[in-house]
Amino acid sequence: MKTDLNTSKHFTLQMLADGIYAAISMDEGAAICNTGLIDLGGLVVIYDTFQTPQAARDLAEISRNLFGQTPLVVVNSHWHNDHYWGNQVFAGQSQILSSDKTYRGIAEAMPEFSFYPPNITFKQHLMLHGNRRTVELIDYQNGHSASDTILYIPNDGIVFLSDLLFVGCHPYLGDGHPQGQQDALRAVGQMDAEVFIPGHGPVGARQDLLMMIDYISHCCETVNNLIQQGKGKAEMECLEVDPAFRDWKFGFFFQDNLQFLWDMQNQPESRLDE
Ligand SMILES: [Zn+2]
Repeated sequence: MKTDLNTSKHFTLQMLADGIYAAISMDEGAAICNTGLIDLGGLVVIYDTFQTPQAARDLAEISRNLFGQTPLVVVNSHWHNDHYWGNQVFAGQSQILSSDKTYRGIAEAMPEFSFYPPNITFKQHLMLHGNRRTVELIDYQNGHSASDTILYIPNDGIVFLSDLLFVGCHPYLGDGHPQGQQDALRAVGQMDAEVFIPGHGPVGARQDLLMMIDYISHCCETVNNLIQQGKGKAEMECLEVDPAFRDWKFGFFFQDNLQFLWDMQNQPESRLDE
């Protein structure tokens, strides 16, 4: 099949296996996050819908060109709006699916807009079967956000992680729980897979899971050391990014992450029990 895949100005489409594609956001486009397009055989699934309808529309068009159909199932990985504002492109044609916790986050975030939240929800684990392959949706709670759903394709050794993983860029830790995110990354690391697609940044490998775990540990240790030394926030604000992470994009998140972890240390019980 010879279809021109790179017709969108918002993302580049990368084939990971026959029928499995990652749409990797371009810096200058309106996609903002990465998404996945997977043909299960008789059933096409999209994992996340970008931040804008125009990017989502391009992916729907590519799905029709490649597979002859609009995706039947759309998965919303978590409630951050750069991952689901393209939902409206699929409303009325696709079933929109998320964990029940993500559904609540999206529904609460959007009371006054005409918006298409998920219409099917699940807890913990859901499997979707086509006549060609099966995918597993697995929900991790209190990791990057209150609920992060990954999409695992066991037979192909591919995992779409959304924002549990950032590759080559600082993650945003401020809505999650650092230990929970590390636990989720370790669990994904145990899976039989070699290709890991992040929510932001290029397609990654197992090494990138370890880098993310290290980054979170580094941020937590930095904050804990300052507190133990009796230092204040002013000293923290002077800290530079560790050389191991200095080449990463989104450098502005580093100080945000330290601030978040600092505040968490001082009011640990008031968080994340929604
Ligand atoms: Zn996010």
